[in-house]
Amino acid sequence: MANEAGAGPEDPRGPRGPGRGATARPSPAGRHTLGGMSDSYTHFETLAIHAGNTADPLTGAVVPPIYQVSTYKQDGVGGLRGGYEYSRSANPTRTALEENLAALEGGSRGLAFASGLAAEDCLLRTLLSPGDHVVIPNDAYGGTFRLFAKVVSRWGVDWSVADTSDPAAVRAAITPKTKVVWVETPSNPLLGITDIPAVAQIAREAGAKLVVDNTFATPYLQQPLALGADVVVHSLTKYMGGHSDVVGGALIVGDQGLGEELAYHQNAMGAVAGPFDSWLVLRGTKTLAVRMDRHSENATRIADMLTRHPRVSRVLYPGLPEHPGHEVAAKQMKAFGGMVSFQVEGGEEAAVAVCDRARVFTLGESLGGVESLIEHPGRMTHASAAGSALEVPADLVRLSVGIENVDDLLEDLQQALGK
Ligand code: PLP
Repeated sequence: MANEAGAGPEDPRGPRGPGRGATARPSPAGRHTLGGMSDSYTHFETLAIHAGNTADPLTGAVVPPIYQVSTYKQDGVGGLRGGYEYSRSANPTRTALEENLAALEGGSRGLAFASGLAAEDCLLRTLLSPGDHVVIPNDAYGGTFRLFAKVVSRWGVDWSVADTSDPAAVRAAITPKTKVVWVETPSNPLLGITDIPAVAQIAREAGAKLVVDNTFATPYLQQPLALGADVVVHSLTKYMGGHSDVVGGALIVGDQGLGEELAYHQNAMGAVAGPFDSWLVLRGTKTLAVRMDRHSENATRIADMLTRHPRVSRVLYPGLPEHPGHEVAAKQMKAFGGMVSFQVEGGEEAAVAVCDRARVFTLGESLGGVESLIEHPGRMTHASAAGSALEVPADLVRLSVGIENVDDLLEDLQQALGK
């Protein structure tokens, strides 16, 4: 089966192995298939725990083993046991995660990478050729902007920036050469909201693919494929892993043909997720639902406190009724997530001082872990956007609200702000 599906890692035609077949995805001795799970269990919390996680047929282990291996004994030349031959092409622990991700996003195919940016790079080099054009949001993770502006553009891909929270602005930015419309919702760090169905329709009419970075929301809160997106991107480093102990990325698609193309490029380019990293993320997604509920509850309480604080000039949280994207967010999200940004009276130095004074909130980049983090985007995560259309306000502070007791978090922010 795997042999029919394609060529081996040394063969320029592409990978064979699980997930590379034209039809079903074979797994060793039936392991790590959804095993009808997606048919029998449709609730997110159940899928999160079971999809890709069938018990090990050898030992009954309820957690997929870490297959820390590069190559596999073959049953004769070309006779692969379960379809695995080389771990860049496929590895059983990664297969388990990829099946889990596909199930959670409601896609036909999930692919796991060494980082979110590795996933983005693979996606862009699969979808784009020199001369193509991309619409990118005016608020996005700084590293995503850097990938477009400093790397992909060098290969002859043109891009323009649009406020994707305004569908008319997206339509206006599209050119006859536009192949990709890129959206982050909620966006990093300004928590802007894009109407996914509206922008999906605009992209479809233009013959472009809509890519949604779902890192902030996660599939528990928002499922972009069901809302019309073609591709979902994740930094698995964040909520999906959930414990600040792994760097990873993912692509999930609905279309099987696109899934095959991406799998070909994943193997051809090689920035795959390793077995231990895959295992850590697979452990993380099991508790995603309960974590996101608590992240969202805590963030709601904190955003509410900040709106009443005299030293805060503006709070950015899609759960607030006054947020410009609140209505759209309420339609397409189950809750509003754990990210809150706010602007501080007194400008950049005052914002930096708040970050420095926080104690329970750890000063650090990244987000989405169980512990609360605070940062100054202008000098930290978004420094690479300085001077561009994506530059962030200097008085902005970004919070990744964790799942600690909310009273401790409220008290810490109050002391950091100077009560
Ligand atoms: N997308 C978003 C929204 C992010 O916040 C990040 C990283 O912070 C990335 C993508 C890139 O992911 P990674 O750091 O795993 O490469």
